[in-house]
Amino acid sequence: MYRFNEIATGSGSVALRPGGATLRPPRPQFGHKVESVRTRVGDLDLVVDLGQRIGSREWFRGLVTCTALCYAAWSFAPDMGPIEAFSPAPFPDAQFQEARALNIAPLAYGADTGRRMAPTDAVQPLADIPERPVIDLRATLGRGDGLARVLERAGVAHAEADRVASMIGEIVPVTDLRPGTVMDLTLGRRPNRMVARPLDKLSFRARFDLRIELNRVGGLLTTTRIPIAVDETPLRIQGQVGSSLYRAARAAGVPARAIETYLRAISSQVSVSDIGASDRFDFVIEHRRAATGETETGQLLYAGLDRVSGRDLKMMQWTVDGRAQWYEASGVGRQRGGIQQPVPGPITSNYGLRMHPILRYSRMHRGLDFRASYGTPILAAMDGTVSRAGWAGGYGKQVRLSHGNGLATSYSHMSRFAVSPGARVRQGQVIGYVGSTGLSTGPHLHYEMYRSGQTINPRSVRFTERAQLSGADLASFRSRLRSLLATPLGAARTAEVPASATAAP
Ligand SMILES: [Zn+2]
Repeated sequence: MYRFNEIATGSGSVALRPGGATLRPPRPQFGHKVESVRTRVGDLDLVVDLGQRIGSREWFRGLVTCTALCYAAWSFAPDMGPIEAFSPAPFPDAQFQEARALNIAPLAYGADTGRRMAPTDAVQPLADIPERPVIDLRATLGRGDGLARVLERAGVAHAEADRVASMIGEIVPVTDLRPGTVMDLTLGRRPNRMVARPLDKLSFRARFDLRIELNRVGGLLTTTRIPIAVDETPLRIQGQVGSSLYRAARAAGVPARAIETYLRAISSQVSVSDIGASDRFDFVIEHRRAATGETETGQLLYAGLDRVSGRDLKMMQWTVDGRAQWYEASGVGRQRGGIQQPVPGPITSNYGLRMHPILRYSRMHRGLDFRASYGTPILAAMDGTVSRAGWAGGYGKQVRLSHGNGLATSYSHMSRFAVSPGARVRQGQVIGYVGSTGLSTGPHLHYEMYRSGQTINPRSVRFTERAQLSGADLASFRSRLRSLLATPLGAARTAEVPASATAAP
């Protein structure tokens, strides 16, 4: 907080003591802060507080100063009026004659003389204007569009469009045609103007490797399949990681989607922050080159990392039990995710000795109790098979899952089952709903975990099992990996594909 006279001294303006006498602030001394805001002419203070001593001489002088400044500001304001436009200079005579000679305008519009000509008796209307014999059109298949509709829009008769669509449908399912497919069509001569023009020719690319042509030969439409040779040699790209693997790989021409997959695959084996600047990445990506020059890039097939320190990684995707995941060359897959909590609620009773709420004596509580409201979905803790789903005495309705390696879990007091015995379940799949069946005081989930038939504390289990390929799976995995690694470097990177490129065997 400031005291009043401190403000006055600091600001250097005319100020009043509480008593009312004018206080002259001390003159600024050399080297002190320069008063830049205040304007002084001799002893005359030009800046007067108009809120004080209204009606005095200083006040009127201040008012005049203020008015003068406002007027000055207003009079210096820029003019917003229109600016005079530039008009081109008239042509010199020679240029005018030249421009006039080039000028073509119908006589009916006055040509370049300005004198309009009306038709005279010499002008006779034509009895029949000849029609253009054929029309070449280009139509595009839209999203959610149909082949027949595209043709009808282009002017083909309804019946004919339907017939053509069904002819094409015999070669390739019409629903497989991609939106954006461009169709070249030729409409032929018609007998009179009352009917639609017949479709004489239709040609489009139905698939990446197939072109379909439709021609009218002797009044009959015939379709021709024109296969396009496609080279499916995968694309292999290698490079040094440098400061950023993502940027280096992008610069080398790897699609962003493939890099994301690569990082996800690699991160299951090494921490991404452990990848060194001198390590080398190795991508093999699905790649198709058509003989007509188009290319298509697909999925990442192989993710390799040659590391300066630490073991090298050679990873490939493989599908086991309908679940695809990335495996290392040795057949070791991703560390399987931890254990799914069966319901989102909090744990209300832990594993161990406790006073039973109904039986009223100390007894071992062999599982975890989760608080959850009636009907909450119960999720499988891990992948497994339903070993039982039925009534189990005091446990009420119970589902038991076995997860292999002697590990099992059970879920009790359910209100309803969502699985039946023998079914395979995935981690996180709904197996039933919370209830209060059996010996229970209210809706909750009693969850138990067993190893070799004995209950264990579910909270003590750290599940660090890795998926591992073995036997025939491993053998076929390795042979596929070998064939991928035989991909020559940058095989498909040369963009100059000769038109006569042959299909891969
Ligand atoms: Zn319980």
